[in-house]
Amino acid sequence: MYDELIVPPRVLLGPGPSEANARVLKAMTTPMLGYLDTKFVEVMDDTVALLRQVFGTTNRLTFPVSGTGTAGMEAALANVIEPGDGVIVGINGYFGERIADIATRCGGAVTTVEAEWGTHIPAEKIAEAVEKTTALKLVALVHAETSTGILQPLTDAIGIAHDSGALFLADCVTSLGGQPVDMDARGIDIAYSCTQKCLAAPPGLSPISFSERAVDVIRTRKTPIQSFYLDMTLLENYWHGETRGYHHTVSMSMIYALREALRVVLEEGLAARYARHELNARALLAGAEAINLQPAAEAGYRAPMLTTLRIPEGIDDATIRKQLITDYGIEIGAGLGIFGGKAWRIGLMGESANERNVMLVLNALEKLLIASGHNVESGTAVHAAAQVY
Ligand SMILES: *Cc1c(COP(=O)(O)O)cnc(C)c1O
Repeated sequence: MYDELIVPPRVLLGPGPSEANARVLKAMTTPMLGYLDTKFVEVMDDTVALLRQVFGTTNRLTFPVSGTGTAGMEAALANVIEPGDGVIVGINGYFGERIADIATRCGGAVTTVEAEWGTHIPAEKIAEAVEKTTALKLVALVHAETSTGILQPLTDAIGIAHDSGALFLADCVTSLGGQPVDMDARGIDIAYSCTQKCLAAPPGLSPISFSERAVDVIRTRKTPIQSFYLDMTLLENYWHGETRGYHHTVSMSMIYALREALRVVLEEGLAARYARHELNARALLAGAEAINLQPAAEAGYRAPMLTTLRIPEGIDDATIRKQLITDYGIEIGAGLGIFGGKAWRIGLMGESANERNVMLVLNALEKLLIASGHNVESGTAVHAAAQVY
């Protein structure tokens, strides 16, 4: 026999999943409905309307696809790229690399524009790549690069893409619900996200939206969309069609969850929610810097949802993270790629972005660092963070 499932309480301060909102978890216990039940169709329509508000768009082709953020990435690329299309992908971290990988699998002729991990991608470098690329279809950038904590400026890059007639894609997996995405105001053609980061729901859906220009590109394809599961033209019929038809069985529970998560976001208010993420990130960084933990992301381009901190000389990465879990139940993220063993990633996303968590993680980190021989005075970090609040 196996015991009833009981998991230890955790404070989730990694790169996602973040803490799920209690109302969202409650909504998930709502009974199943048929996938075309009129009440369920109403729930789907509500979810789309709420999603458009959070994305800042009136795009018709907007809904969540089944799967996590990577499913959204795959859907975005597989629907617009045809073999031989020119694609420019900005890479300054792990997720830019993943976009380039998938775009290549879609048959795209990918040109990468690279910047050092922990820095942003300058618009001039994108302009240079555009000059050299033939049959350019798409320019793709990661809005908030969760592997490095960089918040990438988009405005100039969008202008460059549009001037050359290309579509602009932004990976908003970590930014949606934590920082403004403003799809229409900025002119983003394709954006996708996920449920388990700043939307404070469990993983399982990837909200995605396509502008009319992007929809035209999909409609005028010469080759079929390789993926059946993520074919937006088929999914559109289920989500938006006059006579809605079966495509695949969506997760009712996850759509209930997303609907509630979006209600929570809009109840708080987008501006207030972005400001809350910024305040808590500022307090975290003030506390960290006070105990000589230096940020690994370039000043002026830091994403408040995810803070990367350089691990001091002589401190063992894995030991500290293990102790954070065993002694305090706190999960923070390990470094990815070139930041492996060199930086920690502390996520303050959605529900998790609050003063209690900032004070908790700073106090715990400081205590463990002092025990490992890091020379700072006890209470320094929390004191500095408290000044910010
Ligand atoms: C988390 C993340 C992804 C991938 O999302 P999954 O939900 O893990 O599939 C993609 N891009 C960025 C920027 C992310 O932070």
